[in-house]
Amino acid sequence: MVDSLRFIVDSNVGKLAKWLRTMGYDALFFEGSNDSQMVATALAENRVILTRDTQIMRRRVITKGQLKAILIQSDEPERQMRQVMDTLKLDYQFQPFSICLECNQPLVERRKEEVKERVPPHVFQTQSQYMECPACHRIYWRGTHWQAMTRKLEHLGKGCQTIP
Ligand SMILES: [Zn+2]
Repeated sequence: MVDSLRFIVDSNVGKLAKWLRTMGYDALFFEGSNDSQMVATALAENRVILTRDTQIMRRRVITKGQLKAILIQSDEPERQMRQVMDTLKLDYQFQPFSICLECNQPLVERRKEEVKERVPPHVFQTQSQYMECPACHRIYWRGTHWQAMTRKLEHLGKGCQTIP
C-alpha cells in the first residue's frame, strides 16, 4: 500500500480515532497516561501522534523530526478532524469500510449467506456487502450510520462548513 499513514491518538483527542477508522486509517487509541509509552509505541510502529499535549511536542524525537506529531488546536472534534485532514491532506475516501471502528482491526469480507443469521432481516434483504471484525466479530455493512459519518467527513474535507 502506498499510503500507509498510521496514527496513535492520545486520549485527550480520542474521538479522532473513530473518524480516522471510518476513513480506513489504522488509528490506535492510547488510553494510558504514560506519554513515554505513547511515544515509544509511535516510534516502534511508525505512527503519527495526535495530541493536545504541548509537553509531547517538546520531546526531542519530535523536534528533531524522527517522529511526526500534530498538536491539535481545538477542543471541538469536527475542527480537530479538519485540522488533521488539512495538515496531512487526507482523503476521506481513502479506504472506507476496512477497519473496525471499535477495535482498529482490519475487517474481513463475508459472503451474504455467511451472515444471514447474524444481521437483522431488513438489513439482509437490502445489503449485499458485509465485513466482519476478526477481533470483536461485529458485522459491518454500509448502513445509515456509516453513510452519515462518511458524509460528514466529506464536508469537513471539502471545507463546506463555515467554522467561525
Ligand atoms: Zn472489532
